[in-house]
Amino acid sequence: MDLKDNVMMLKGLGPKSVEKFNTLGIFSVEDLLLYYPFRYEDFKSRLVEELVDGEKAVITGTVVAPANVQYYGFKKNRLHFKLRQGDAVIGINFFNQPYLQDKIVVGKTTAVFGKWDQLKSSLTGMKLLAQVDDDLQPVYHVAKGISQHQLIKTIKLAFDTGYGQLIKENLPESLLKRYRLLGRQEAVLAMHFPKDIEEYRQALRRIKFEELLYFQLQLQVLKKENKLETNGLSLPINQEKVNEKIKELPFQLTKAQEKSLTEIVADMRSGAHMNRLLQGDVGSGKTVVAGLAMYAANTAGFQSAMMVPTEILAEQHFQSLSQLFPENTIAILTSGMSATNKKATLEAISSGNVQMIVGTHALIQEAVTYHRLGLVITDEQHRFGVEQRRTFREKGDNPDVLMMTATPIPRTLAITAFGEMDVSIIDELPAGRKKIITRWVKHEQLPTVLSWLEKEIKKQAQVYIISPLIEESEALDLKNAVSLYEELSHYFSNKARVALLHGRMKTAEKDAIMKAFKDHHTDILVSTTVIEVGVNVPNATIMIIMDADRFGLSQLHQLRGRVGRGEKQSYAILVANPKTQYGKQRMTIMTETTDGFVLAEEDLKLRGSGEIFGTRQSGIPEFKTADIIEDYPILEEARQVAQTIVSQDNWQNNPDWSVLALNLKTQETFD
Ligand code: ADP
Ligand code: MG
Repeated sequence: MDLKDNVMMLKGLGPKSVEKFNTLGIFSVEDLLLYYPFRYEDFKSRLVEELVDGEKAVITGTVVAPANVQYYGFKKNRLHFKLRQGDAVIGINFFNQPYLQDKIVVGKTTAVFGKWDQLKSSLTGMKLLAQVDDDLQPVYHVAKGISQHQLIKTIKLAFDTGYGQLIKENLPESLLKRYRLLGRQEAVLAMHFPKDIEEYRQALRRIKFEELLYFQLQLQVLKKENKLETNGLSLPINQEKVNEKIKELPFQLTKAQEKSLTEIVADMRSGAHMNRLLQGDVGSGKTVVAGLAMYAANTAGFQSAMMVPTEILAEQHFQSLSQLFPENTIAILTSGMSATNKKATLEAISSGNVQMIVGTHALIQEAVTYHRLGLVITDEQHRFGVEQRRTFREKGDNPDVLMMTATPIPRTLAITAFGEMDVSIIDELPAGRKKIITRWVKHEQLPTVLSWLEKEIKKQAQVYIISPLIEESEALDLKNAVSLYEELSHYFSNKARVALLHGRMKTAEKDAIMKAFKDHHTDILVSTTVIEVGVNVPNATIMIIMDADRFGLSQLHQLRGRVGRGEKQSYAILVANPKTQYGKQRMTIMTETTDGFVLAEEDLKLRGSGEIFGTRQSGIPEFKTADIIEDYPILEEARQVAQTIVSQDNWQNNPDWSVLALNLKTQETFD
């Protein structure tokens, strides 16, 4: 007997059932034992006299009269029997389940889950319970064709056959003691069949700790490997040239920018592989720092590439890099380019005729071969999946990697998703920036807002108006944007020039509209959220967001970051009539803080992690039992333990940790 045995080996599982189990990811007996319920139903039996009318509950009693079935129409029938509980006799009715009749045996103790009718002193049965003595019933995710009952029966069978005893401890004794954790055998059994809630809690804590500890060990090991001097490229950067370039900039770098650049350049020089996250609020000047890193790579004779999520952004970064580094050859690569143009660009890249490359996903397609790729930068990295990040890296000879993100990542998530990375933070805005004034107004106040807009536009202000977001419907988003555009065009007919931008437009069209706005040929840009990321028009000082309560805080913050990019006072107006307390709270928070980190933490608390960064996209692993927000204390504990262990030289050979080293090797890598 072995835990790796196919579930086929279990009695009573035919090939059909095995297939169904496979769809749940259950192949081996081990998979089955580690397939945990996602919740429990409390089937603790209740006393009838405690029940209130309409309540759903379990009643246990002795069957005192045999069940009879009455038929009263097509496929309609009622099964009726009587249960005695103490002195009370209760009528039980099941509708349209005549097959239960055989299971009702006079004199037998029976439990029924159902809805209590006080007046008739009867219960409308919803479920006849198989195990009368189990208060806590596990509930599993099941697939079509497998019932809860069958799954539970099979798991029981596996334990009864003795497979439970084969489960090996995978945490060192010292940790079990220090954190008072249940042994693994005991915990796995209790995950399925706990004696009581307390035992279940202990089991869950142990399993979560195990899951998070192994995850953190993987991150720490990866980080240690990255730090090895032999794993990456060592770029002989010409610091003098870089310093000269910094002096030539039209502004002085902030302290935080300088510090980040120093950290990045040190990583690039070092033979260790750079794996760094550059975090900074919108407008903090990350792009300049990234550009200087690309420039530094170039002084060492290496190519660099920057990948961004949209064509508008690629175009914009291409322009700002061209302005900053006129002496360098810079290329742009997007999928929207003409074939001849693309061909020429690809040739220039592979021959080494271009030094810096900016582009969209096109940068990681098969056809692109780089000449000497030394540095890879991804912008707004949470929009790229882990797979894409890796492909990009493999395009070169393990080039250094810098990820930029303007979505402040709360510490909780940062150590979870990016625990293997180093982090540079730009935590100050360039001097002279004015704080964006944010106001929340109701729809009824729109006329006032519009007449204020009119005045501001007369004073040369430019305005973004973001159309309402309709969940999961791009088509409706578009419809909204179009009708808003039409209304505003009508309202402002002789007073302002209004343009529309949305995601369905062709690249050339979008670019033309953006350019016209940038050149102040239009005053108001009505847009869907395509405008969200990175767009930079310093003269735009007013951002109006319609139905702002439909957006997440981080997204609102991103949108608001499109203004406040110049010297002039900027405004964000949130138009919303939120219906929930949450919604009101969120609008208020937005008016109170412009600190992206604070907002991200709040967002996380209010909405959960998956919503902020579509979990799969962000590289944040999905845990089987742990929840990184709820279980933050365990996560933090696990991180500290992992760090302490992995920082020891040769920890794998230390008998204290051998069980960890052994199991770590056999786990799949999470990436
Ligand atoms: P981010 O990428 O972090 O959103 P950007 O790099 O686009 O920010 O910078 C926003 C604007 O601020 C740009 O117009 C940029 O030229 C300008 N900028 C960047 N750093 C500074 C600085 N140290 N002083 C003044 N302006 C700066
Ligand atoms: Mg390096």
